[in-house]
Amino acid sequence: MNQKDSRGILFWITGLSGAGKTTIGNELYYRLKREHSNLVLLDGDVLKRIVGGQVGYSDSERHERAWMYARLCKGLTDQGLIVICCTIAMFDDVRQWNRENNKAYVEVFLDVPMEVLIMRDQKGMYSGIKEGVISNVAGVDLNVEYPKNPDITIVNDGSIGIKKCVDLILSHKIVYSKDFMRDTDYWNSYYNKSNDEILKPSKFALDIIDGLKKGCSILELGCGNGRDSVFFANNGLLVTAIDAADGIITKLQGQHNDNQNIRFLCDDFVCSSALFVGQYDYCYSRFSLHAINEQQQRELLSNVYLALKKGGVFYIEVRSVNDPIFGLGECVGKNAYRYNGHYRRFLEIDDLLNECRQVGFNVLYAKESTGFAPIGDDDPPIIRVVVEK
Ligand code: ADP
Repeated sequence: MNQKDSRGILFWITGLSGAGKTTIGNELYYRLKREHSNLVLLDGDVLKRIVGGQVGYSDSERHERAWMYARLCKGLTDQGLIVICCTIAMFDDVRQWNRENNKAYVEVFLDVPMEVLIMRDQKGMYSGIKEGVISNVAGVDLNVEYPKNPDITIVNDGSIGIKKCVDLILSHKIVYSKDFMRDTDYWNSYYNKSNDEILKPSKFALDIIDGLKKGCSILELGCGNGRDSVFFANNGLLVTAIDAADGIITKLQGQHNDNQNIRFLCDDFVCSSALFVGQYDYCYSRFSLHAINEQQQRELLSNVYLALKKGGVFYIEVRSVNDPIFGLGECVGKNAYRYNGHYRRFLEIDDLLNECRQVGFNVLYAKESTGFAPIGDDDPPIIRVVVEK
């Protein structure tokens, strides 16, 4: 299987009790299972049993549980799983977060008239309505925030069969968020071109190598063609190197299969599981922070903080807003541009330092200067930041 094919998707199936979430989620699961094995079904009732009685049913506790489910789903889609989550959990902020934080997100709203729900009333939830003794039922006496912009709305009042409902879901085109695309095709072809210049260690790696102790572990985020990772390994460091460009990573894995000091992983470095095995002595990000958006940078900084040992050091080199190419191309976010088909976000040194401090890092070194990463005749000002946990 192609390493990049296991990208996660979240199907968030929502609707009131009796709307058909479990029934439709189950059918969707078995239909997808015919072609995919990286699949998990999280049904609200099963999840409640797993969470146990720790979280109750007040509005704030329901909200807390919805967040729990959302975080669990993201943790699984981060690992490349297709997740089907069937839950009422009708909170705008949770759904918005789902959309922003999963590589692909499909929100399905099962909209069913109350009279049909009362008629179905499989769980006896609505039985007290007539007597006026109902309490704590979502959509009856408990206010809910109905989905405002679901990808698919199905009026599941029984007029269409379950298989047809699932056909509707499957006919929806899955769109991977551009923010998670990582330009893998661009990088695969970039590194395929043989160019001696990009095989030598970078100036940044050469400048810091004397400060890195032999036998220590280093995690490189966005290793590209592995030139710095290999250099670190040759200098006695234990290297974990991550990049999403599957073509180059597959090649590097083949070349370095027997080298015990280096492992290459094809993954999204923002949320890679390799971050959670910790405890690294060093982290290294050269020209990779500008491949991710602001929100992913925040997520990455706190993940790196957790991944480092106490006293561990994070070395960052990144493009600045003072780069002459800043502003060229199509603006796609704050300080972010798509230029020649390629995403780049330019950083402001003070913003980066503030964010590092916010997650708990001490700043050891910070400088923006030319001369850090000259390439050919170009010598743009570049940001270098070194922070310690
Ligand atoms: P939820 O998980 O949203 O509480 P369920 O999946 O348990 O809802 O469905 C409630 C009841 O409605 C079940 O008995 C199910 O068989 C029935 N049901 C759901 N969708 C349909 C449908 N399209 N046609 C007929 N019955 C349905």
